[in-house]
Amino acid sequence: MVFGPVPSRRLGSSLGISNIPPNVCSYSCVYCQAGRTCQIQTKRRAFYDPADIRDAVSEKLTKADALGTIIDYVTFVPDGEPTLDSLLGKTIALLKPLGIKIAVITNGSLIWEEEVRADLLRADWVSLKVDATVAETWRRINRPHGALKLDAILNGMLEFAQRYQGTLVTETMLVKDLNDSIPQIEKMLQFLTRLKPATAYITLPTRRPAEAWVQPPGEEAVQRAYRMFRAQLEHVA
Ligand code: SF4
Repeated sequence: MVFGPVPSRRLGSSLGISNIPPNVCSYSCVYCQAGRTCQIQTKRRAFYDPADIRDAVSEKLTKADALGTIIDYVTFVPDGEPTLDSLLGKTIALLKPLGIKIAVITNGSLIWEEEVRADLLRADWVSLKVDATVAETWRRINRPHGALKLDAILNGMLEFAQRYQGTLVTETMLVKDLNDSIPQIEKMLQFLTRLKPATAYITLPTRRPAEAWVQPPGEEAVQRAYRMFRAQLEHVA
């Protein structure tokens, strides 16, 4: 339920929280390192008691403190989608008094729901997945639950960004021949320039993906994508 601290490239030293069981997600991304999603769903529900999560985090923080280890963030980063947890907002509210910043790494697929946006507004740092803004590509790479609609998700992200006071970042996984072409990236950038993330992260499938055929783009395509992002966005990593 709570693991770490682990060093995080983006967040420093981070305690991880799995607030849902493994492999429960609204997507089944072709590159997912947790394998194919076995329980693909979009209906939010309660999984664990928020007080148990708070107690487990508190215990880890006490131990870290005794060892002189600094923890920069507590991060919701399950092997699945953290916003499927209907008690996410309540759990964040319980963790706040512990005095550590809170991060949520989400695929953003449920952000069209007002309740999900309200839960995420409580976090200090939110990462949204933006792998594609063309519906066909989105279906091929993220393999979403059939009830999800890309337009609603993208609009929900924009609505969230307008109100959010914390640090909003995006994460784009580039997969060879799926979303690495110039037209695909141009379309993505049309959206990202409206969303205005503090940093747009480009990532590559380097760990074992759910589907063996998944490959990172070649060096030239990665550099091209990076240059295109840099030309239009303030911070790219
Ligand atoms: S959203 Fe994340 S957890 Fe869900 S399938 Fe994609 S990579 Fe895996």
